[in-house]
Amino acid sequence: MTAPALSVVIPVYNEEAGLPALFARLYPALDALRLPYEIIFVNDGSRDRSAAVLKDQFLARPDVTRVVLFNANYGQHTAIIAGFERVRGERIVTLDADLQNPPEEIAHLLAQMDAGHDYVGGVRRKREDAWWRRIASRAMNRVRERITRIKMTDQGCMLRAYSRDIVDAVAASREVSTYIPALAYTFAHAPTEVEVAHEERAAGESKYSLYQLIRLNFDLVTGFSLVPLQLFSIFGMFVAAMSLLVYAIVVARRVVAGDFVGGFYALWDRDVLQFFLIGVVLFGVGLVGEYVGRIYQQVRDRPRYTVRAVLERPTDEAGDQDANILQHEGHEERRIAR
Ligand code: UDP
Ligand code: MG
Repeated sequence: MTAPALSVVIPVYNEEAGLPALFARLYPALDALRLPYEIIFVNDGSRDRSAAVLKDQFLARPDVTRVVLFNANYGQHTAIIAGFERVRGERIVTLDADLQNPPEEIAHLLAQMDAGHDYVGGVRRKREDAWWRRIASRAMNRVRERITRIKMTDQGCMLRAYSRDIVDAVAASREVSTYIPALAYTFAHAPTEVEVAHEERAAGESKYSLYQLIRLNFDLVTGFSLVPLQLFSIFGMFVAAMSLLVYAIVVARRVVAGDFVGGFYALWDRDVLQFFLIGVVLFGVGLVGEYVGRIYQQVRDRPRYTVRAVLERPTDEAGDQDANILQHEGHEERRIAR
């Protein structure tokens, strides 16, 4: 295998139904580019037959196919990192396995890289997602753009191209929970975006629940900005100042009237105030917990994932002995690079 010009990284989790359709479009699309490429599938601990399907595909196209098999489910972004740590190409494209990102669009991303960009984000032309996800992601975009320096029109689109420098930097980052397109963006010097088509899932269903989407957005905001923490302290100071003011008014009115003034209690609802303050406190505790939790995860310094097996051909031999298929078995642990 000559050093590939293009590495395509695809996370796979319970996609057995959709994989054949993906192969049928992905390989011809990449062959049509007429450049040496490799595809790295990372099986993220699928509980269905995805691993077996990937193994068959590896045996069918061992020249361009590599498969990393996780021993458990570590999440889409960890799977992509595992691919990033192994890429051999100068340019890297990430893609979802469910055909929501048409592989034919890769050529457009590469054209932008030819034009000198080192980061090309895809923007879905017409989203084929549930309406609540469209609205939620638009709102999140607005918040993120205000409080971080990351400009990303479509954070949900994983069809993106990166230069090798960026991918190496992402792979070397020791973040535990991260959102790759945003992290990569911080390393880019000439980012750009292109519109890409978007299709409905070919088969299976979305692996993201509402809870996971909320988690992802928390990661995105707390991972790249301290503004939530700072906003909270500002809000806390504001509340404290206001309560001082209210206290001053209460005391002043008591002094002036000699006692309570009728009607004053109509405005003063201690229960509501208590609820409000308890809400503020809980919000603050939760927010602090968000950061403390990240520190906790970081200091544990666990391996981000463990690999069960890697299916690939060795690089050094001139790859003509097709029987010579490398398969590392057993436990391979990747510590986060220091
Ligand atoms: N995925 C993964 N691990 C997970 C969840 C998802 O590797 O824990 C993969 C999944 O197989 C797909 C991609 O990540 O290739 C995007 O997932 P999905 O299509 O479910 O997300 P959505 O398009 O609904 O945002
Ligand atoms: Mg999808």
